[in-house]
Amino acid sequence: MSRSITPIEATLGLLACISLLIIIAPKDFASKTLELEVKNYPVYIGDDSFTGGDSKASWADEASRQMRCEMGQKYINPYCSMVFTTLSDTWSGIDLRDFKTMRVWGSYEGPGKHIRLYLRNRHPRYYVQGNDSSTKYNMVEFPIEDLNKGITIHLSDFGVADWWLTTNNIKLEDSHAEFNDIVFIEVQTGSQERFGTHDIRLDKIEWQGDLISDETLYRGMVLFWSVSIFIVLLYRIIRLKIEVNKHQRYEQELVSINKFLNLQNKHFEDLAKTDQLTGCLNRIGIRDELYEGLQCWKEKRQSFSIILIDLDNFKKINDTHGHDVGDKILVGAADILRSNIRHSDCLARWGGEEFILVCAKTDLNQAKVVAELLRSKLQDEKLHANIQVTASFGVSTLTTPDLDAVFKAADEALYEAKGSGRNCVIAKTPETD
Ligand code: GH3
Ligand code: MG
Ligand code: MG
Repeated sequence: MSRSITPIEATLGLLACISLLIIIAPKDFASKTLELEVKNYPVYIGDDSFTGGDSKASWADEASRQMRCEMGQKYINPYCSMVFTTLSDTWSGIDLRDFKTMRVWGSYEGPGKHIRLYLRNRHPRYYVQGNDSSTKYNMVEFPIEDLNKGITIHLSDFGVADWWLTTNNIKLEDSHAEFNDIVFIEVQTGSQERFGTHDIRLDKIEWQGDLISDETLYRGMVLFWSVSIFIVLLYRIIRLKIEVNKHQRYEQELVSINKFLNLQNKHFEDLAKTDQLTGCLNRIGIRDELYEGLQCWKEKRQSFSIILIDLDNFKKINDTHGHDVGDKILVGAADILRSNIRHSDCLARWGGEEFILVCAKTDLNQAKVVAELLRSKLQDEKLHANIQVTASFGVSTLTTPDLDAVFKAADEALYEAKGSGRNCVIAKTPETD
């Protein structure tokens, strides 16, 4: 079965493609850069003479921030350093937490192979106000080769100088590199360098990072997809509920229509079984009673009789008073018969001016009594326009499981009653072979 894509599915598909592109595409288009012309910042130079060494830092060219280090041999770890202060007017440092790499330009002349770079930050956990050496010494040492063309360093390669950790008694959880609030950028001679003249200059540093960090990106995506899926599910559940409600309403409507149709069916069934003129059952209506009587006789030998009733000289009534009056007389005769029968008896119009009375659990003699009663009631009553009618009665009872035989016998009895002057009851048992 073919099924077209819904707008929601199409939108989700499109968003999935966009998400995939965001994940696999290079993020250069969404990167950010911070450039620092270091020579524009306040700077000072220092050397190991503080700690008893004989190295000597001086300016080779102060304007271009070129430091000269005459490295001595006295101190065990001799050094010279140049410290740039990156404090802003509001006394805050640089926040480099969102950056991944940095590129450093400068120059070096001398016998050395490496220089050290410190990005020194402050943090209330370890920074002591007014004590510059309590800034954390986030350090990287790198080869000076191609320094003038720029050297790329990953911020993840920074570590914290051991001597700073031990000197300041730093806790383990603070021993990792941190890049918030960088207030000093310090360039130092390499840790393995000895003797001689080292000329170091730092021109420019450029940091690069993603506009949105991977973590933020993936968090955002997870959040976005969670919310999207939640919305889609909510939408589907609401739609489903609406559908279910709609179907329940349909179902209720169908049930009530069905009820109505059943009532209609029953009505038409009754109509089909009822004689429209007299309101008695008709031939179809009495059929079930006849078969039920036959069945009871067969199974339990329960007596069962029928009485055929034919109004006498009815043609004459029609001829004398007209057909309409004849109809009224028919209705009146039916009413008399109906109001004088037992609950267990069943009256039907058999056709024309003939009726049949089906008497369950009634033998021939009992049926004769019933017929006699009806005959006398009919004879005594005045009907429409004071007209009186009589009827002839042919009574028979089941003696064999044969309805035809009992009808035949009742018919013959009726015929005999007509022959005997009408307005009388004749009973006859069916002939047995
Ligand atoms: P008998 O005593 O021998 O039965 O005579 P009868 O005139 O009743 O018998 P017959 O069979 O010759 O006539 C029956 C008449 O009943 C004929 C018919 O016009 C009339 N009849 C039958 N059905 C209806 C009816 O629905 N309405 C009216 N008004 N007359 C009917
Ligand atoms: Mg007749
Ligand atoms: Mg008749």
